[in-house]
Amino acid sequence: MKRSMIKETLEKVGEVVVLKGWVNSIREHGKVVFIDLRDRTGMVQVVFWGEVAVAAKALGVEYVVEIEGLVKQRSGSNVNAEIETGSVEIEGQKLTVINESKTPPFEINKDTSAVDEAVRLKYRYLDLRSARVQKNIKLRSEFVRRVREFLFGQDFTEIETPLLTKSTPEGSRDFVVPSRLQPGKFYALPQSPQQYKQLLMTAGFEKYFQTARAIRDEDLRADRGFEHTQIDLEMSFVERDDVMNLVEEMMITVAEEMGYQIKEKPFPRITYKESMAKYGADKFDLRTEEEVKNGVLAFAWVVEFPFFEKTDDGKWTFSHNPFSMPISEHLDDLMEGKNIGEIKTTQYDLICNGYEAGGGSIRAHKAEILEATYKVMGYSAEETRESVGHMLEAFQLGTPPHGGIALGVERMIMNLANEKYLREVQAFPMTGSGQTSVMEAPSELSEKQLKELSLKSVM
Ligand code: ASP
Repeated sequence: MKRSMIKETLEKVGEVVVLKGWVNSIREHGKVVFIDLRDRTGMVQVVFWGEVAVAAKALGVEYVVEIEGLVKQRSGSNVNAEIETGSVEIEGQKLTVINESKTPPFEINKDTSAVDEAVRLKYRYLDLRSARVQKNIKLRSEFVRRVREFLFGQDFTEIETPLLTKSTPEGSRDFVVPSRLQPGKFYALPQSPQQYKQLLMTAGFEKYFQTARAIRDEDLRADRGFEHTQIDLEMSFVERDDVMNLVEEMMITVAEEMGYQIKEKPFPRITYKESMAKYGADKFDLRTEEEVKNGVLAFAWVVEFPFFEKTDDGKWTFSHNPFSMPISEHLDDLMEGKNIGEIKTTQYDLICNGYEAGGGSIRAHKAEILEATYKVMGYSAEETRESVGHMLEAFQLGTPPHGGIALGVERMIMNLANEKYLREVQAFPMTGSGQTSVMEAPSELSEKQLKELSLKSVM
C-alpha cells in the first residue's frame, strides 16, 4: 500500500492507511498503547490494543516505524486541539520497526533551546528533528524560494560565483585555502561575491542574483557566524532609488505573502547623521512592545553614510565598501582627495527590527574613481593595481553604471521566526567557539596532507 502523509489522514477518515515516521512519544494505559507518530507533515495519535499493543510496548522514542491502521474520527472531548490532526486518530493494525533508536541525548519532542549548545550541535540532526528548528529551517526555505520567484519575475539571472578566489575587501579577515599546485600560494574564500557580481555587470547580464555564501573570519556573536548566506544582487543602468525601490518591493511582497505585517510602507528613510542623533546608532528598532509581541516587521533605510573612516593608525579606510560611488555632489572631492571626512557614499543599509538586514550601494564603474578611492586609503598606484587591477581593467572595457545590495538571510529569518541566535536558523551552525556541528572541525591535517600542501605546522 502507498504511504500516506500524516497531514492527509484528516481527509481519509474510514480508510486504512500506511504511515511512516518517527515515534514522538509513547503512553501506556494498561493494555492500550498510544503513540504520537511524526513525519515531515505533522503528528498524529495512533492507538494500539490487543496483540499489536504488545509489539507497540517494545517501541522507544525516535524509532522509525511503519504503521498500517484505520483512520477514525475523534469525537467531542477526545479532539486534541493542540495538534493539527487532533480530530482524528489511527487505530493501529500492523506495526513494523524500520529502524531502532538509542535513547536520544536530549528530548526532541520538547523545545531544545535550553539544551547545552555543544550537545545540541554535536547531535544537530536530532535537534533539527524538533518542531521549532524544523519550522525555522522550512521558513528559511520558503523565504528564499519566494525571493527567488520574485527576482525571476523581474528578469534576474541566477549566477553562481567561485568559492576559491582572491581576497576581496569587506572589512573582515579572510579564510584562506593553500594551493597544492602552487606551493606557498593561497586562495581566499569570498567575504562576498562583490567583485564577481560587478564583473557580471561588465559581462552584460544587467540583473544578477544568487543566494551566496559569504565567509568571514570575524569574532563570533549571537547573530554572526563565520559563514552566512546573503541574497546578493546587482543591477545595471540604475540609480540608488531604483535598487532601494526594487528591494523594498521584494521585501514587502515576500513578507506579506508569508503572512507578516509590515509597520510602515514605504519604508522610512533616514540619513546616517539623523540616525546617530536620534538613536545613537545606525540601526534601531521602531516597533512598540505590542508590535514586538505580534511579530510585526519594522523596516527602514539608512542612507548617506560617510564614505571613509579613520583607522587606529590615523589612515583612512572605507566605512562599508571601497567599490561604492560617492553621492554625486561629493564626486569631485573624492577625485581631488579633498574633505575626505565629509564625503558621503551612495551606501544604503536596510534595517529590520533593530538588525542590519542588508546593505549595498551604487558602484564606481570607472577606473579613475576606484583609483581615487584607493589613493585616499593610502595605496600607491602600484598597490592599487595589485589589489584591484582586474577591476580597473574591466572598467575600461565597457562597464555600465551599476549598483546592488546583499541581504542577510539568517538575520531576516531570525526576525521572521523571532529568534535571537543565528544557530536557530542555520541547518548546521557552529558553536560560539567556532566548532562545526556534528563533524569535528577545525581539525589537524595528516603529515602527508601538510607535505602535499608544502605546509609546516608550528604549533
Ligand atoms: N558586498 C556587500 C556585502 O557583502 C554588499 C553589497 O554592497 O552589495 O556586505
